[in-house]
Amino acid sequence: MSQSAAEPIEPILTRNFGRPDSHTLTAYRETGGYTGWAKALALEPAAITDAVKRSNLRGLGGAGFPTGTKWSFVPKGHAGPIYLVINADEGEPGTVKDRYLLERDPHALIEGMLIAARAIGSRLAFVYVRGEYVAPWRRFSAAVREAYDAGYLGRGLDVVVHRGAGAYICGEETGLISSLEGRKGWPKLKPPFPAIKGAFGAPTIVNNVETICQVPHIVNRGPEWFAALGTQTQGGTRLYSVSGRVRRSGVYEASVGVTLRQLIYEHAGGVTGNGRLKAVVPGGASAAILRADEIDVTMDVDGLRNAGTMAGSAGVIVMDETVSIPDALRVVARFYAHESCGQCTPCRETTGWIYRMTERIVEGRGRKEDLDTILDVARRGTGTTICAFYDGAVGPYISYIEKFRAEFEALIPHA
Ligand code: SF4
Repeated sequence: MSQSAAEPIEPILTRNFGRPDSHTLTAYRETGGYTGWAKALALEPAAITDAVKRSNLRGLGGAGFPTGTKWSFVPKGHAGPIYLVINADEGEPGTVKDRYLLERDPHALIEGMLIAARAIGSRLAFVYVRGEYVAPWRRFSAAVREAYDAGYLGRGLDVVVHRGAGAYICGEETGLISSLEGRKGWPKLKPPFPAIKGAFGAPTIVNNVETICQVPHIVNRGPEWFAALGTQTQGGTRLYSVSGRVRRSGVYEASVGVTLRQLIYEHAGGVTGNGRLKAVVPGGASAAILRADEIDVTMDVDGLRNAGTMAGSAGVIVMDETVSIPDALRVVARFYAHESCGQCTPCRETTGWIYRMTERIVEGRGRKEDLDTILDVARRGTGTTICAFYDGAVGPYISYIEKFRAEFEALIPHA
């Protein structure tokens, strides 16, 4: 039986955030840190994977894939190296949760890595940190040194902290692996999936920071406890980065079953601007936009998928009635045009073209046929590219225009 999302939950990921020394090993240990690892040492690797499966933990970086299932894809009895890679290349607009975890609870990530590495049989883990995240990188690197000094690392698991150079596409797991290997951060076609052939040709599990920070709690308190915090198909809590026109923007922890309405009005204190909600992006910039009458939806992977959008990275961007949707789309389209890696023709050409078309409309130079042409071109490229970047870009292109068409038309002369 799942807990009602309306009930306040005990902070789990954020339980130490209020302590000024929360990033230290001393503080982490004082609040039960590394006891999950001690329990995991008494478990067979398969039992850890099984517990994570039963917890209904799903990837919290964007794709929402079941974590235990992903771990089970590593070939059994593999003789060579197996790598664990932590995706800390947080670049989705509207999302800052991993930054908080790296800065305020870095040992939770290290403990989760120890447990995950034991489950998949890895002895070497990489943490790929977004290039712009200098302070989080410093904090996390200091925690890694503490963990080595205390003997948690270096006795079965070594950790390499790697800084990216600020490319959004390196948050895509195969692009991240290419970059980690010292090559251009270009995504690769799948299959083979990284769990079979990933970094340096070896089986590799790529998990997001927040996902792995949940693992010690699952081992410590049991998969059933974790599963019950969420919905039928997704367990636990997650961190929501709430920004835009709200009274209290910030990072909030809540059940994955919280509703979008609760996040906006209870956690973030309601809407500013003219006080009337117009639209919300629920899962980072790549998520399709929702209208004000669509916010009674749960924030789990399936709840938002059923609403025609996605949970993504849980970056919630709130717009009041004074926000121009065409202008918002122009900003998003510029981002995608800039960040496309350029390998695939539909992505490389369409993202730039749609940005220019959106700009033309916003500046009052649009033509009557522009909106239908944008929708048609955007749809034609769907499913034709190497990675999900293009399909992620299409979500905003289509949903902004379909749901707020009149606003676009009002800017087009003679529409
Ligand atoms: Fe690069 Fe876009 Fe193709 Fe992904 S879809 S590989 S970002 S060009």
